[in-house]
Amino acid sequence: MSRMLPIASLAAILTALLASTAQAQQPQQPPFATTKVEGTENVYIFRFGGHQSMFIVTPAGVIVTDPIGLRRPAAKTYIEEIEKITKAPIRYVIYSHSHFDHIAGGKPFKDKGATFIAHTNAKARIQQVKDPDVVVPDQVVTGSKRNITLGGTTLELNYVGKNHSDSMLVMRLPKEKIIFTVDWIPLNGVQFRGMADNYLPDMEEGLKKVIAMDWERMITGHPGPGGRLGNKDDARTALSYLQDLSAAVKEAASHGKCYDGAMLSPRRGAEVTWLPRRQANRLRHPNQVA
Ligand SMILES: [Zn+2]
Repeated sequence: MSRMLPIASLAAILTALLASTAQAQQPQQPPFATTKVEGTENVYIFRFGGHQSMFIVTPAGVIVTDPIGLRRPAAKTYIEEIEKITKAPIRYVIYSHSHFDHIAGGKPFKDKGATFIAHTNAKARIQQVKDPDVVVPDQVVTGSKRNITLGGTTLELNYVGKNHSDSMLVMRLPKEKIIFTVDWIPLNGVQFRGMADNYLPDMEEGLKKVIAMDWERMITGHPGPGGRLGNKDDARTALSYLQDLSAAVKEAASHGKCYDGAMLSPRRGAEVTWLPRRQANRLRHPNQVA
């Protein structure tokens, strides 16, 4: 009698093991949640699945950011959640950047009469792609800044140049010292390996501008580890990472490697040596953040 298990049994055991590991690693969380940001009177985070966005409630109406409704009914839920808090009208929907996983599905907000605002490059992109699930912005941000003031709250829409897309807004609440910006300042993570639709070194310049702004907490487009918000150390870490990585690639290239080879070779050395232990571990077990 063979001591080897039949292949089919092995496969079944492996599948069961993998399934139980996956379950153990993914604690059940409700499909969506609305959280008031601690220490504020009117700033909230709406999460649906692995995406989230900020909204601000004022007596004169509500300012919503990304609808996060790509191929799912998130916007309907989003509106129901807002209406549990206020009966004030939803006045604005502001897109963080042009990527559809964050901005699709806004029609229920449009039907309620909201004005949509985005960076001018986002509007151009949306008009080019013509996806019926993405509401075309009514108004745009050109230049480096525009303010929205509603019911005593001011929200700055800052454009700090190209970074992750060419249409990223850094939304800042000056009184609350909170910013909302999406997909380009990771919390306990590193950039996407491929960094598609990312602009370097413009991103470094943008990070310097963000670090120079007056804020203390950052809301991101995907929940941070343990649900934490970001801070300036996260922005500084992201900047150091890019600077170190660029320097290592240039160094490797100066030794005669082509840029493709140079980009591969410093990956372990450059990233792991400067990263705090937790981030280095994460790099060894990459888990994309956005
Ligand atoms: Zn994105």
